[in-house]
Amino acid sequence: MFKTILLPIDLGETSSWQKALPAALVHTAGEGGCLNLLTVVPDFGESIVGTYFPPDFGERMMVQAKNDLEAFRAAHVPSDVPSKALVRSGTIYSEIIDAAEEMSADLIVMASHRPALRDYLLGPNAAHVVRHAKCSVLVVRG
Ligand code: ADP
Repeated sequence: MFKTILLPIDLGETSSWQKALPAALVHTAGEGGCLNLLTVVPDFGESIVGTYFPPDFGERMMVQAKNDLEAFRAAHVPSDVPSKALVRSGTIYSEIIDAAEEMSADLIVMASHRPALRDYLLGPNAAHVVRHAKCSVLVVRG
């Protein structure tokens, strides 16, 4: 039913993929399906925080994140499942929504929130994506 599936992952947060990845794999199982892993590196831009880092820090973070995501893909996505690893920089929810539109994703799969934040039913990024994405969104509860 779904062909282009987007799975945004916080590489530093196991709960962002532990249940969401199996759910995404189920939906990628149909013919022609492709699982697109995405991780977003925060962009400090012109902010005061950015001035504390060396000028090439952003570039190095992107390279490191790409390597880490490729390692994740090799370790966790079965080799017979078509998949890609994508890294973007910027505001997490905007990048998820833009990436989904650019690849014409028909399904975004994401975890609802970090388990530590029990007061939330939906974290801020998941909430934004659910409200603004043009395609279907599967929110996997922790
Ligand atoms: P919380 O604040 O509890 O972490 P979020 O809404 O930020 O809640 O997280 C829910 C989901 O948002 C994660 O499971 C993941 O799909 C996505 N997400 C969070 N951080 C990133 C990131 N850096 N890159 C890609 N996706 C992310």
